[in-house]
Amino acid sequence: VDHNTVGVLKAQLEYEWNSSTWYRERLDRAGVDVAAFSDIAQLERVPRFDKEQHRLSQEASLRESGHPYGLHLCAGTDDLRAVQATSGTTGLPTFYTFTESDLRVNDAAIAAGLAAAGVRPGDVVLHAYALSMFVGGVPWVRGIQALGAAAVPVGAEGGTARLLQFAGAVRPRVLCCTPSFAEHLIERAPQVVGVDVGDLGIEILVCGGEAGAGDPSVRAILESAYGARVYDVQGGAWGHFAISCEAHEGMHLITPDNVLLEALDPATGRPLPLDHGRVGNLAVTSLRWQAGPILRYDMADTARFLTEPCSCGRPGLRYQLLGRTDDMVIVSGVNVHPSAVRDVVASWYPRVSGAIRISVHEPGPRVTPPLDVRVERGPGAAQDGDEELAAALEDRLRDALRFRARITIVPAGTLRRSDHKTPLLVRESGEAAR
Ligand SMILES: [Zn+2]
Repeated sequence: VDHNTVGVLKAQLEYEWNSSTWYRERLDRAGVDVAAFSDIAQLERVPRFDKEQHRLSQEASLRESGHPYGLHLCAGTDDLRAVQATSGTTGLPTFYTFTESDLRVNDAAIAAGLAAAGVRPGDVVLHAYALSMFVGGVPWVRGIQALGAAAVPVGAEGGTARLLQFAGAVRPRVLCCTPSFAEHLIERAPQVVGVDVGDLGIEILVCGGEAGAGDPSVRAILESAYGARVYDVQGGAWGHFAISCEAHEGMHLITPDNVLLEALDPATGRPLPLDHGRVGNLAVTSLRWQAGPILRYDMADTARFLTEPCSCGRPGLRYQLLGRTDDMVIVSGVNVHPSAVRDVVASWYPRVSGAIRISVHEPGPRVTPPLDVRVERGPGAAQDGDEELAAALEDRLRDALRFRARITIVPAGTLRRSDHKTPLLVRESGEAAR
């Protein structure tokens, strides 16, 4: 962390202290003197924020301030120019708010990130993330436009058939969607538009919203089917944007001026030293956000941080997303991320389709082995190899990830797909999980 970042962070802290009673009390209680802030180590005293606290902050602001955006809102509600959200499974959605200044910061961040992936002014960009109330939706459309490219916002809501029809008509150079949706299009394109995805002229796939494009096997499937370069990406709010490069060794943080990243110990919440290869929970602190700035937001992502120079020559911090912390299971003491299981399985493509579904029958993160994993046979693969394939996958998972799995091979296309995010893990509670 350089001197400049400390100065910018100090300004953000002073802004928060002055604009929000909630922040003032939080910083005062933590013993952070914002006027004298001079050392990044002082930030460690500030309690981390997370999705649960975000929800509590919103419930409190509904009661006390008559709006749902949280007591951490530092701008007036009449200064808001955009509201985004992630849908909660219960209760209020989690809101993300933007002022005019925030929109400019965010537009520039997304434009810079896409430019790093080789998206150019004048390109046609087919947008297939969920458009409705998702930071990958309208904010990304704005970012594409800010870059000078033409956004075609069909969105995930448009559905597979409509998206493929538009792809055939507008011939996009760039497609933005979740990796599982990109995989799904591989199977559907021949049926819907009568051509393979590789014939659609797409040169760049920008895949985010879930882990996947960062997994070598999943990326290999997408690259070979589309004949395109595939980039793994994270970002869309607070001016946070990270994207992989040609080296595919993690995502470069494109916007270190906008956000400060930390690795937190998942058990204690304490910051871990950011040395090369360090694994921890990704926490984000906004540095120049007006509406709802965040301090040490635990994103519930397990990340590996890379600090040594990348072979592509770009400077700065990189990180890889290993999976969602709430998806992680513990099998005989070993932490297992579903995305890591999927990556191992996907290396058998085309004998497998790449889609998997892990079923967990116990409530907590601890699972009694073997872990139940359903694996889809590849669309053209013969059924009579199932037993041998299952045994080979079980062996490989034990060797690579050190846990015991029970593999069931199912026909191609039988595991439910979502246009938005496809779960790799389901918790069986009596209901059928297809
Ligand atoms: Zn690089």
